[in-house]
Amino acid sequence: MTAKVCILGPSGRMGRALIDAAAGRTEVRVVAAVDRPDAPGLGSQVVAGLTSSADAAAGLAASDVYIDFTSPAATRSIAKLAREQRRAAVIGTTGLTAADEAELAALAQAAPIVVAANFSLGVNLLLGMVQQAARALGTEWDAEVVETHHRAKRDAPSGTALMIARAIAAGHGADYDQVKRHTRDGDVGARPRGEIGVSSVRGGDVIGEHTAFFFGPAERIEISHRASSRSIFAAGALRAAAWVVGKPPGRYDMLDVLGLR
Ligand code: NAD
Repeated sequence: MTAKVCILGPSGRMGRALIDAAAGRTEVRVVAAVDRPDAPGLGSQVVAGLTSSADAAAGLAASDVYIDFTSPAATRSIAKLAREQRRAAVIGTTGLTAADEAELAALAQAAPIVVAANFSLGVNLLLGMVQQAARALGTEWDAEVVETHHRAKRDAPSGTALMIARAIAAGHGADYDQVKRHTRDGDVGARPRGEIGVSSVRGGDVIGEHTAFFFGPAERIEISHRASSRSIFAAGALRAAAWVVGKPPGRYDMLDVLGLR
């Protein structure tokens, strides 16, 4: 079966990557492309026979599933529309607030949705590896996460860095919110045992790099992932779109899609 897909933000970095990655695939077909009313190139051709439009309700209605890599505000408002239509969704937007998450939870009551801060196979495998390392090493080994992204990225730390840090906390058996330390500045004192630090670097056109560090006595482990093309996220999101159509309502993630749970 071919899933009919609506792409949000075709003028964006991920929107373009999704449209490129969908070309030539049989499991998905792009049938609608919805952008914000003031987006550059609105109304221009996205793929043969399809132009972008600002009519989100019509774009969702024409499709089986929509793919959203936009902004938290857009993700929230389009999730409201999608709930009315019980439309399946693949959500990659990061930096979501509690209010945005609540809107996704409401959509997941009505439709199946896949939400992931990172759609790459490599990062989803890495999450299992860091959790296992944290469990084996315990808090005697200081765990830190460092992420690097391009200068246009708005949210920090990256959603992927937060997933990695949460996987470390799960490995330690800790509550992440009690042990997290997002960047350090000033007289912060000695590092408490069990703290999990996350630091963000921004610059140039870096697509996404993450390293989990485990500092032991006289030795260190580094587990890294480097993305060299947005095509890896696009391929994962399209795979998720084909997978999610027809599933029961609920919230799923890439471990479900990849069969790794
Ligand atoms: P971008 O700024 O290049 O693109 C955002 C797009 O969203 C633009 O085309 C914009 O016009 C569009 N948009 C904004 N409001 C809209 C609305 N109301 N309706 C329709 N379209 C709207 O950003 P980007 O680099 O493509 O990243 C987008 C998001 O995806 C960010 O949150 C980023 O962190 C996230 N991201 C996630 C993954 C992942 O694997 N989950 C990977 C890369 C990026």
